[in-house]
Amino acid sequence: MSRGGMFAMGACYICGEFFMFNPEIVPSIDGQAICEPCIEIVNRERVDMGLPEVHVFPGSYSPMEV
Ligand SMILES: [Zn+2]
Repeated sequence: MSRGGMFAMGACYICGEFFMFNPEIVPSIDGQAICEPCIEIVNRERVDMGLPEVHVFPGSYSPMEV
């Protein structure tokens, strides 16, 4: 096993597009991952509603280079 976390492939909860993500840290709703463009939209809406942004950890969508 290599370090740096496992990557998974799945459909976005919001748009249904398939994308790669790190299931340990990717933002998700009801256990289903949300892709990067969608989380940006979600965060804009949350800010408009006065809610805190969902934190997107570095490496959520691509393996971090060491
Ligand atoms: Zn999406």
